[in-house]
Amino acid sequence: MSFKKFNFNPKIVAGIQACKYVSPTPIQEQAIPSVLKGCDLMGLAQTGTGKTAAFVLPILQNLLGGPRGTVRALIVAPTRELAEQIHNSIEQMAVRTGLRSIAVYGGVNKLAQIKKIRSGVDIVVACPGRLLDHLGDRTINLSKIEHFVLDEADHMFDMGFLPDIRRILKYLPRQRQTLLFSATMAKEIRQLAEEILINPTTIQINHKKPAETVSHVVFSVEQGRKPVLLRELIDNTDMPATLIFTRTKYKAKKLGQKLEKAGYKATSIQGNLSQSKRQQALDGFRSGKFKILVATDIAARGIDVTGISHVINYDMPDTLEAYTHRIGRTGRASATGQAYNFAGHEDRRMITMIEQLIGRKMARPPLEQKYP
Ligand code: AMP
Repeated sequence: MSFKKFNFNPKIVAGIQACKYVSPTPIQEQAIPSVLKGCDLMGLAQTGTGKTAAFVLPILQNLLGGPRGTVRALIVAPTRELAEQIHNSIEQMAVRTGLRSIAVYGGVNKLAQIKKIRSGVDIVVACPGRLLDHLGDRTINLSKIEHFVLDEADHMFDMGFLPDIRRILKYLPRQRQTLLFSATMAKEIRQLAEEILINPTTIQINHKKPAETVSHVVFSVEQGRKPVLLRELIDNTDMPATLIFTRTKYKAKKLGQKLEKAGYKATSIQGNLSQSKRQQALDGFRSGKFKILVATDIAARGIDVTGISHVINYDMPDTLEAYTHRIGRTGRASATGQAYNFAGHEDRRMITMIEQLIGRKMARPPLEQKYP
């Protein structure tokens, strides 16, 4: 499954490439066609599913044709962090479109925001409080909004923002597309959805959880220290069959070679391998000739090897789906499995999301004890 079937404009395709997305996540697969058609949407999905791109990409495509420098899309988010993150994603995805976005939230200079809005923006990503400030001051005009997105509506409700949202709605034209995302469907959210959505398409994405039989461990480690940590783990832990994931093909190949040279029974598979080489590596791993297999997500697709004792995320995945998929290779059919996560500073958010998904904190071995 690729992004091709959505027939995005080449300018949007460039944005997808800039983000290095290869194939759409389930929510993107389901939401993009509806949003492109202009339908309203109720998306029941958590962060980590790829929901930002699910609404940003089709909205950008729909904005491409119209006038520039007029606010035509509004995204409201409950926290500054989320607003900033959505804005950053938009900048990346819109890199070739010439469409401009601004993040609007409190606690920072209002004048700088006003200046940028005056200079012409197409998309506003805002938190409710500061947005209402600007609306009161008439420094933002929402009368030309074509697309309105309410993100994390359940958090909005928890934070007491629903009255603010209702006030903001009064500034929006009736004729518009409205998308509402929420992880849960509390009574209040359902009510709001009924008020603001017209014949919505409803999409529900449930995260599949990793099996309960897997224990998850996180090692705080920066990139440069990963090789040493890996060696220490392998040398000091009983690992009958270990699958190691890297982000790139190149890294998978190099790491496999390095381990092999260092005397470990290791091999790698990556997309560039011929089918027969791939099969050899897999057969060798299955039979126990190789105890370690290094792979990328794409190369590991469809690997069905039972008895994998350890999965090591040498590089953390980008999505929860990918995490569950990787970890699904161990702890199968009630055998126990271990998931070791090598997480740098930039992976903190993903670690928090994984902990939310599995419903518990991961073990964090103290630094002086390098392995569990
Ligand atoms: P979100 O749920 O929008 O916060 O996205 C969670 C993470 O998934 C972000 O780091 C995105 O960059 C990443 N992501 C979104 N879509 C894709 C995709 N199609 N392929 C890979 N990563 C993605």
